Amino acid sequence: MVVNKQNLSEPNMAAKTDTPVNERQTLPVPEYHEQVVGLDHETVGNVRCDNPFMIAEGVNVYYGDNHAIRNVTLEIGKRQVVALIGPSGCGKSTFLRCLNRMNDSIENARVTGNITLDGLDIYSKAQDPVALRARVGMVFQKPNPFPKSIYDNVAYGPRIHGLAGDRAELDNIVHTSLERAGLLKEVKDRLDDPGTSLSGGQQQRLCIARTIAVNPEVILMDEPCSALDPIATARIEDLMDELCEDYAIVIVTHSMQQAARVSRRVAYFHLGHLVEVDDTDRVFTNPQHKLTEDYISGRIG
Ligand code: ADP
Repeated sequence: MVVNKQNLSEPNMAAKTDTPVNERQTLPVPEYHEQVVGLDHETVGNVRCDNPFMIAEGVNVYYGDNHAIRNVTLEIGKRQVVALIGPSGCGKSTFLRCLNRMNDSIENARVTGNITLDGLDIYSKAQDPVALRARVGMVFQKPNPFPKSIYDNVAYGPRIHGLAGDRAELDNIVHTSLERAGLLKEVKDRLDDPGTSLSGGQQQRLCIARTIAVNPEVILMDEPCSALDPIATARIEDLMDELCEDYAIVIVTHSMQQAARVSRRVAYFHLGHLVEVDDTDRVFTNPQHKLTEDYISGRIG
């Protein structure tokens, strides 16, 4: 396979290939890539799953000339967490954003291939992206509560989608969502306070409450704990464990420990390719592809 160097992300300048082997350091990805072969094959492992709910088939994403996602096929099932891992710039967030058409708003971005949600083509002309995002919700890296009260943050989606017939129903949705996000106890006496008055971890749980208030079927999480301390991180991870009873969750994380703790399946990306996907235990204990092995053993970063 020919790799256009201009398409590669900037190498990590801190790492140098002439580093003595006894001072082990990670290698920059593009430099490392030139030492390996084997990216022009199909994904190893198992891209399929039982009862797939969301299916991405032959997905490519281009930002202008930059071919950021290369022919990726992946099935996502309900009641499971799939973790997307890989070195920075390998396309994890780009692929995640394809799943609810967040790339639509990026100028220059072009998506090809097929993505279905419960059999429905999410890129069809008839599909309203706002309605899609109610079914496939997203939680971002940095908690981003609206400049509104805690109550209004959670009520926002149900209001615009007309999910509540009256105030009592709306109250019920807000309370249930906060409860499910593990936040109700902490905020029930201050629902009129601004969402931004909460701590970082609470704000992220508020964003999760806002996401689940519209009854999504899939929740996408883009490094949801990277701005949080270890205690707030543990709470979000516990929450994911509970939420995956009802939802399909896809999480981008650059913490392999987090992927090991929270996910049932792991998908390893490298330079836009989905190199390997399989049950988390199997990928971490017995990776099949050299690139996966080198990444999880810390040889590339
Ligand atoms: P990751 O999430 O694995 O760090 P990204 O999906 O952010 O990787 O990036 C994959 C590739 O797409 C990189 O080459 C990056 O520079 C490029 N890219 C990501 N977002 C944009 C964007 N909004 N516009 C142009 N190029 C982008």
